[in-house]
Amino acid sequence: MTRTPLTTSLDGYEVWFLTGSQHLYGPETLAQVAAQSQEIAGILEGADEVPVTIVWKPVLTDAAAIKQIALEANADDRVIGLVAWMHTFSPAKMWIAGLSALQKPLAHLHTQANVELPWADIDFDFMNLNQAAHGDREFGYIQTRLGVPRKTIVGHASDPRVRQELGIWQRAAAGFAASRSLKLARFGDNMRYVAVTEGDKTEAELRFGVQVNTWGVNELADAVAAASESDIDALVAEYEELYEVVPELRKGGERHQSLRDGAAIELGLRSFLEEGGFGAFTTSFEDLGALKQLPGLAVQRLMAEGYGFGAEGDWKTAVLVRIANVMGAGLPGGASLMEDYTYDMTPGDELILGAHMLEVSPSLTTAKPTLEIHPLGIGGKDDPVRLVFTADSGPAVVVALSDMRDRFRLTANVVENVPPRASLPNLPVGRAVWKPAPDFNTSAAAWLTAGAAHHTVMSTAVGIEAFRDFAEMAEVELLVIDEATTLPEFQKQVRWNQAYYRLAQGL
Ligand code: MN
Repeated sequence: MTRTPLTTSLDGYEVWFLTGSQHLYGPETLAQVAAQSQEIAGILEGADEVPVTIVWKPVLTDAAAIKQIALEANADDRVIGLVAWMHTFSPAKMWIAGLSALQKPLAHLHTQANVELPWADIDFDFMNLNQAAHGDREFGYIQTRLGVPRKTIVGHASDPRVRQELGIWQRAAAGFAASRSLKLARFGDNMRYVAVTEGDKTEAELRFGVQVNTWGVNELADAVAAASESDIDALVAEYEELYEVVPELRKGGERHQSLRDGAAIELGLRSFLEEGGFGAFTTSFEDLGALKQLPGLAVQRLMAEGYGFGAEGDWKTAVLVRIANVMGAGLPGGASLMEDYTYDMTPGDELILGAHMLEVSPSLTTAKPTLEIHPLGIGGKDDPVRLVFTADSGPAVVVALSDMRDRFRLTANVVENVPPRASLPNLPVGRAVWKPAPDFNTSAAAWLTAGAAHHTVMSTAVGIEAFRDFAEMAEVELLVIDEATTLPEFQKQVRWNQAYYRLAQGL
């Protein structure tokens, strides 16, 4: 069987740079428009803040060419989005067919070739050439009239803020592209009696493009049983190199076999996922079949490589972890399944301790994790091996996906990871400790008001803006809890959104 290793990289992607104009100006002016738009595209392409290749396309001057480029972009898997700029005036009825056909994310770059005006020399030739100030207004009108979801970025290409905004939008577009080709394997169903991990898998495929399907866990167990002793030897050697392995698990240690069992689970999982072309998966501690342990170490390592994962059958969070891994490709930090677990309720200095039974990604730490074995109270299996660490301090975001019956809702909280108040010697799991914005009471009350899930993706690589851009592309509701949030306004937003999303869906 062919195996397709997962790629989590922005390298193969392109964003096309479109420039709108019209024939009215004549060849000389259009040649200037082409040269100057190539210059702008070149500045963006060369910028560190812009991770995905910008490809300049010839200036568009009529409806047929605009529709053609939209269809080409739709058909090309490398293209994750388009940037459009109306350097001159491009009568926007020309854009109706193209924008209606376009199925890729769009960023409207509202810029111009020059930073300063040549005040002393300005004449009407200059005015004719540099009229994005009203050309882009015409373009904004038609996008809004057609209801085109897009990001609007305002400023000169030399401004680092503009390039940052474009770079974040590109990352969101890469996440969107990844979700549209994502295949997710569920091993077992979701946890019995739990409400929030349920959801409409057909709607998820429509909205996010992800294919969510279930396989019997014993198909995974067969793949685990097929792991060879030599592959297990090699993987155990890798563990000893990468992690602080406790003596009882090391070669010659009394519980070394448990580490080998954990390595077999990783090898089996990886082969199953690669053979099926999966980029995300879920497990269920209630449905482990012939697996010897609840997959801990294996899941942690696969998440850190870029896979999406959700525990207890939570496929919605698995989708978010995969998207966040792609959006953060190449950046410091990472993405992980997270669960709000327990609080320090010291008044005015509250902290949230997040963890899971085992499955937190070591991409959240730059320290060397320890590899340990401890009993697990539930599941009735052998003690599982797991990586133990604390997430690095610094800014982060937690994002949950709920199925509200008639739509999906993303809820996000901007947070700050902080050190725990002691070293947690008796808590042998991957964990994070954070302060939520704007404050603990507002954050928790807003989260509960939104009906947001207890499972989240925590991203320390990308922030809230990437999720805002993603939500716009996917046309999914996003409620944000950040420094600006007040509870009364948040409650109103939830109510208004309820009406808005029902109206916007039409009949
Ligand atoms: Mn859980």
